[in-house]
Amino acid sequence: MTANAVRLAAIREISANEAPAPFFDAAEKTGAIFGENVFSLSVMQKRLPKSVYKSVAATIEKGEKLDPAVADIVASAMKDWAMERGVTHYAHVFYPLTGLTAEKHDSFMEPVGDGTAIWEFQGKTLIQGEPDASSFPNGGIRATFEARGYTGWDVQSPAYILENPNGSTLCIPTIFVSMTGEALDHKTPLLRAQNAMSAQAQRVLGLFGHKDIDNVVSYCGPEQEYFLIDSAFVNSRPDLLIAGRTLFGAKPPKGQEFDDHYFGAIPERVLAFMHDTERALFKLGIPAKTRHNEVAPGQFEIAPVFERANLASDHQQLLMSTFKSIAKKHGFECLFHEKPFAGVNGSGKHVNFSFGNGNQGNFLNPGDNPHDNAQFLVFCAAIIRAVHQYGGLLRLTIASAGNDHRLGANEAPPAIISIFLGDQLADVFDQIAKGGATSSKQKGTLSVGVDSLPVLTKDAGDRNRTSPMAFTGNRFEFRAAGSNQTVAAPMVVINTIMAEALDHIATEIETAVAGGTEFNAAVQAVLASIIEQHGAVIFNGNGYSEEWHAEAEQRGLKNLRTTVDALPEYLTPESKALFSKYGVFSEAEVESRFEIGVEQYVMAINVESNLTAEIAQTTILPAALRHQTELAGNVSALKAADLPDSAVDTTDLLAVSELVTELRAGIAALKAAKAGAHDAGAGIAEAAYYRDAVLPAMLRLRTVADALEGIVADDLWSLPTYQEMLFIR
Ligand code: ADP
Ligand code: MG
Repeated sequence: MTANAVRLAAIREISANEAPAPFFDAAEKTGAIFGENVFSLSVMQKRLPKSVYKSVAATIEKGEKLDPAVADIVASAMKDWAMERGVTHYAHVFYPLTGLTAEKHDSFMEPVGDGTAIWEFQGKTLIQGEPDASSFPNGGIRATFEARGYTGWDVQSPAYILENPNGSTLCIPTIFVSMTGEALDHKTPLLRAQNAMSAQAQRVLGLFGHKDIDNVVSYCGPEQEYFLIDSAFVNSRPDLLIAGRTLFGAKPPKGQEFDDHYFGAIPERVLAFMHDTERALFKLGIPAKTRHNEVAPGQFEIAPVFERANLASDHQQLLMSTFKSIAKKHGFECLFHEKPFAGVNGSGKHVNFSFGNGNQGNFLNPGDNPHDNAQFLVFCAAIIRAVHQYGGLLRLTIASAGNDHRLGANEAPPAIISIFLGDQLADVFDQIAKGGATSSKQKGTLSVGVDSLPVLTKDAGDRNRTSPMAFTGNRFEFRAAGSNQTVAAPMVVINTIMAEALDHIATEIETAVAGGTEFNAAVQAVLASIIEQHGAVIFNGNGYSEEWHAEAEQRGLKNLRTTVDALPEYLTPESKALFSKYGVFSEAEVESRFEIGVEQYVMAINVESNLTAEIAQTTILPAALRHQTELAGNVSALKAADLPDSAVDTTDLLAVSELVTELRAGIAALKAAKAGAHDAGAGIAEAAYYRDAVLPAMLRLRTVADALEGIVADDLWSLPTYQEMLFIR
């Protein structure tokens, strides 16, 4: 059997794969299944007594406190609804700081003591769960011996049924906190931050004269990029299987340079996968809307319609796990790693966000009259201040070992956090800085209004792919997040820094008005001062260019290139003060998040380096040695045949021998680098060591291995190649 038998078998298997038959019955109306598995407001309206429904709806829509008296009634209705659909178990679902999803399943069954059992679901079990928390990262918040954690029902994120052929489960989205109340997840701080932002936004709305002011929320629409790679390939690549990215692999002769994949026809097998996932997402009430190919071969994107940030974040996590499990059914592996293939575009997650409420709408929508525009500009100015002051924190929320391969690599925005406003908005702020905007660049919309602020048209701005934070007509798009990351982390910081900026603006306007300044003049003054102090964060040029890096430095903008540079942003006095002032993180929580960030980074690179050494030693070196032996045999056979010297060519033998020596040296060097980690210290020092000593040793080893891939006989090579993985569908 040849070494590449596994590879050939994989290719044969894949070529024989046909798109599975459609999973939906043609008579089924897509619209009819939307939300079918969700215990939604409309289900509650049908099943709950009127007063109970009203109370729950108020909690969901207006953020009012949940009346504990209604919990039993809701729980019982939920259980009946679920059991009618074949559900036997329930699970509190939460998102610990590993970035994964955790769920603990319990049965509705309660033994009653006489040998029989009843099916029961009490309010208190709906509201609170108590999973053993010792195996979730906590960054030193709890000692393991008292590892108790609590999950608490997030009423605003509806319960849903996760279908499984062997029995379905009622899933209850929850928060996850320690016994002493510290957040051990991403959702708890998101809800806290959103409340803080809401309070300050309501103050600003009040100043603009709104009367019926609703609870304010943040909205989030994530665009998710991913790769679909055949399971047969992934299973024969330990690096992809375990680390989610290839640690070896020579560039294919054809890459993405032709741009022929982007928005191209979607391959049939992939389309079948997309139909199947969308059907599952629809049932779960996840509004999957847009789908298309992405830039790299084998890469695709899905964008659900925006929702409230906490719901969008739950849905986003659910989308990722749904994609992973449905991909397997189709013979694919769904990769969310930020950079699965070196030299090929990686995957990001664009976090589109805005702020608003039911009564006053989206505050990032330019209004139809000067008054609404003034309010719109105030919210934009708040973002400018927020991002300028706390760019480091934003950078932090997207820091991970995976995303480090992507940021600033001319496929994703640089690690420097700046804002792209587009020509029109940039021009308006320019004029404000000079003493007042009276005209807008857009032709035909010029309006010299009472408020001396122009009427703006929507969507006047151009797109800018190189900016991490871009205004796109009625929202901002944070484009630097990695595909594997939760949207909750950036949304926590976005809400918190907006709370600070809106607080500042409200206070300025209130003080000025109290001192006798006319309202419009006060607004104008605060806008002008924000542009003066924070305008440096606005950049409409090419974020990929070298000049920008130099200019950003002059402007005093941070360039936190790697995760190791970004993590300490948690610990600055400014960050700690900000989080504690708005009740988002206590000092202990901030420190625990820092520690977990360091831990995750070190673990990721440690696993990758183990895999690199193992694959080099057990797969690549043997292939190279066999090739070398074959060539040596060939040379001696030719010599023995008494051929003229000119017919005995040793070039290939020498080349492979040289690389074999380098490969052995590379393996030894990587092992030495790893051994050195023991002396590097702990915490961030250890992380820095992994970045500066271990990662480069991995890369040097890879370079040699990839060169070998280019010369070793194909039938001796057992790892599926880039070409095969990216182009065979
Ligand atoms: P593009 O690729 O042009 O950026 P997409 O349609 O792929 O656009 O994705 C845009 C995302 O932005 C979608 O998830 C969409 O729902 C979301 N979005 C649109 N309006 C808002 C808004 N006001 N707030 C937050 N997200 C929004
Ligand atoms: Mg986008």
